[in-house]
Amino acid sequence: LAAEAAFMARTGASQRLRAQGADVLSGGVASSWQATIPGTVWVDHGAGSRLVDADGTEYVDLHGGFGVGLVGHAHPAIVDAVSARVRRGTHFGQPVQDAISVARALAERFGLPLWRFNNSGTESTMDAVHLLRVATGRPKIIKVEGTYHGHHDSVQVSVYPSPEQAGTPQRPRSVPAAGAAVPQDLVRLTVVVPYGDLGAVERALHEHRGEIAGMIIEPIMMNIGLIAPPDGYLRGLSDLLHAHGAWLAFDEVKTGLAVAPGGATQLFGVTPDLVCLAKALGGGLPCGAIGGVPELMNLISDGIYEQVGTFNGNPLTMAAARAVLEDVLDAAAYKHFATLRGIMVAGVQRIQRRYQLPGQVRGYGAKGAVIFTDRLDNYRDFVAYPDQWGHAHWLYQLNNQVFLPPWGKCEQWTVSVQHTEQDVLGFLSNLERLAADLR
Ligand code: PLP
Repeated sequence: LAAEAAFMARTGASQRLRAQGADVLSGGVASSWQATIPGTVWVDHGAGSRLVDADGTEYVDLHGGFGVGLVGHAHPAIVDAVSARVRRGTHFGQPVQDAISVARALAERFGLPLWRFNNSGTESTMDAVHLLRVATGRPKIIKVEGTYHGHHDSVQVSVYPSPEQAGTPQRPRSVPAAGAAVPQDLVRLTVVVPYGDLGAVERALHEHRGEIAGMIIEPIMMNIGLIAPPDGYLRGLSDLLHAHGAWLAFDEVKTGLAVAPGGATQLFGVTPDLVCLAKALGGGLPCGAIGGVPELMNLISDGIYEQVGTFNGNPLTMAAARAVLEDVLDAAAYKHFATLRGIMVAGVQRIQRRYQLPGQVRGYGAKGAVIFTDRLDNYRDFVAYPDQWGHAHWLYQLNNQVFLPPWGKCEQWTVSVQHTEQDVLGFLSNLERLAADLR
């Protein structure tokens, strides 16, 4: 409560903006996830690894705009690419040459030959689900309980954030996400399985024989902390689905580009039939992409699935994405991510041991999470442990000029190429002071 009061006291300008905004913005914010408790931080600008709020307070930004920020703020390469494009016109509804460069770079990174663009992670996973259905003529998909894939109907089922769970941990039942307004007729088309359990997928394929078009999965679960796949799980999924005439789509909206140059696809050496990208790809502009094998992507070129959108392949986002892929996220960038991750993971472990904090720390590429429980293998584990440590940690870091993603229990940090060792040491010293205070 004291931390909440301190937050409100030092963010007066933000709170005034939210109150003003409430006249014209529903809830006083631009998107529901911005309505954080106890209040919303309104941002003035960002530079490098830092952002500055409406009160003039500077923070080390580990939020990364919900995991977008691998390039940091106002990176010169992105500023140059976007500025040059702005001067030459930003939208024609016709393709520009940068689209070929971006698709070529993605094909090389992910080992999938054919690509299309859209504007968000939601559109990417929607395109993926559509392609699975069109390719098979089957209506149902499989998804993992608790995973967030965006806000279209097929995936707004049994997803965090939602308090709802149904069925047993081994045999979860599909429930519509809270507030998502998905009709039951659609909910029943999304079959839900626990993460990491190949047997559950096999059972689903048998129980819904001939009806499953494919499975969409976030290869490393990233919205409930961070959960990596058990050995052999991703390969096993691919084999199982193919044996049943179904396809595998990886939702790499968060992991793609962040955990390795070619995402989890490259990291685990399992190439899915489709990959969904967004977030970091646009370097801070809204860019999504879907890549895949010819059997699926040729359904687009053959006109069987119309993958369309007014802003798809928009010149501005293509210019930014080309700079991200060709100029910023090079081998040195991934080395830098590994160095910072090493410092953060070792530092958190040291603090957890010294102060006997509950939990563990997990990291991949530019991302990692402090997890305040010893056991976290799936959504039911996530729901089972209390939130108080995560929220306290988020608020404490925020009050001490380190900005983490909201909902401390479920999200994780993102570092950029512009973050320094000094930045991550600030995060560690805050965690240590919190642990000492609470001891
Ligand atoms: N997929 C994953 C794994 C995500 O984390 C998100 C967003 O957080 C999405 C899809 C949806 O992306 P967007 O918010 O760009 O629609």
